[in-house]
Amino acid sequence: MKVLKFGGTSVGSAERMKALLKLIVNDDPKIVVLSAMSGTTNSLVEIASLLRQKKQSEATAAIKNLEEKYANVAAELYAKPEYAKEASGLLRANFDLLRSFSAERFSVKEERVILSQGELMSTMLQNLYLKEQGVQSVLLPALSFMRKDLHDEPDMYFIREMLKRELAQHSDCKLFITQGYVCRSFAGEVDNLKRGGSDYSASIIGAAIGAEEVQIWTDIDGFHNNDPRVVKKTHSISHLSFDEASELAYFGAKILHPACVAPVQEAKIPLWIKNTMEPTAFGTLISAETESGDIKAVAAKDNITAVKIKSGRMLLAYGFIRQIFEVFEDYKTPIDMITTSEVAVSLTIDDTSNLDKIVDKLKRFGAVEVDSGMTIICVVGNKISESNGVAARIFSALANIPIRMISFGGSRYNVSLLVDSAYKKPAMEALNEKLF
Ligand code: ADP
Ligand code: ASP
Ligand code: MG
Repeated sequence: MKVLKFGGTSVGSAERMKALLKLIVNDDPKIVVLSAMSGTTNSLVEIASLLRQKKQSEATAAIKNLEEKYANVAAELYAKPEYAKEASGLLRANFDLLRSFSAERFSVKEERVILSQGELMSTMLQNLYLKEQGVQSVLLPALSFMRKDLHDEPDMYFIREMLKRELAQHSDCKLFITQGYVCRSFAGEVDNLKRGGSDYSASIIGAAIGAEEVQIWTDIDGFHNNDPRVVKKTHSISHLSFDEASELAYFGAKILHPACVAPVQEAKIPLWIKNTMEPTAFGTLISAETESGDIKAVAAKDNITAVKIKSGRMLLAYGFIRQIFEVFEDYKTPIDMITTSEVAVSLTIDDTSNLDKIVDKLKRFGAVEVDSGMTIICVVGNKISESNGVAARIFSALANIPIRMISFGGSRYNVSLLVDSAYKKPAMEALNEKLF
């Protein structure tokens, strides 16, 4: 069985939903994971934020706007009036639910239910369209199998067992449609896998069923060597290893959710990136195979905060770094980069929700400096930190860029640099020009 995930643009209009049939209707048994239609999750985030700010009437107006958009999609998608009618009845239920939330009693629980509506609607519309076209398919509710554990990680045992049960109930069916992004929390409440999480859903499902391959269908012809939103003249890479793709996704390549590679890597399932607009293009194959030696790609992660702790006590001391790390651990704040000198430690975080408390505690150890508005630029390739001349090439490309931190040799695949976000674009352009 294969798992195919289609992103927001790939289901972004009635026309795209119709075009999807060519890609999913064939003899291969498959689970199709759909995102919300493009723009929908942003609208739902906005609606939730208006309710949180107690702006009930503005939220109602935003809901009405979105409802009109969906009414137009449904009107265009179905040829037969009975299907159009069924779709509007079902959409009505989603929008009545959105309208039922009161700004007076609004919590994160309600917000998560709101955010789940996009994927619930796109899969319902697509599945009904398949039915209208005479294609046999089953709508698998992600809320019945996709669950997180106590540590907010996918509960693989539960997911595997529930999926096995669901699939066994329809052993004659070859085509299953399900929601990306949407899941349940450990407590059983509606939750999600964070923005861009449909990629992650697909790879979790692929690992759970031992899929032959997982395909991520998106709006570009594969994983590019640099961020096409920032740099002109990027090109698609035909092959990446799991480790390379994982570093790039973690360090900001928006094409893949940061956690998406791990489940398929562990299960040794090839991960393809394909372009819905150009289905015959090769795309990118991500697998365990590695090609040695050279620089493959550059990615960047914004909104990074650097924290420096400077202390004479560090000199010749042991246990100092552990104590510093423990402060971050106490506040469940992951550290991305770290560099040390004899008397100082610098590290970076992207979750600043507990920064004030962290800084207060760190002051026990020495003088603390905080710089926000930083960007990590990550250069990736198999064994690049062991290849001769790579460092020289990177640093000569960045000769005119002030670099705040460097992490080299931490992994064999990645060299990371911290710069002020104002230098992100020139740095990425310079790397693009000089490295490829
Ligand atoms: P989807 O809605 O299909 O999940 P996304 O918008 O999440 O699509 O991801 C695809 C987009 O990621 C591309 O359109 C491109 O702008 C952006 N992107 C960022 N970095 C890269 C990269 N290295 N290679 C390809 N696309 C990238
Ligand atoms: N719809 C969700 C989002 O926009 C998940 C996804 O598209 O992957 O973030
Ligand atoms: Mg995405």
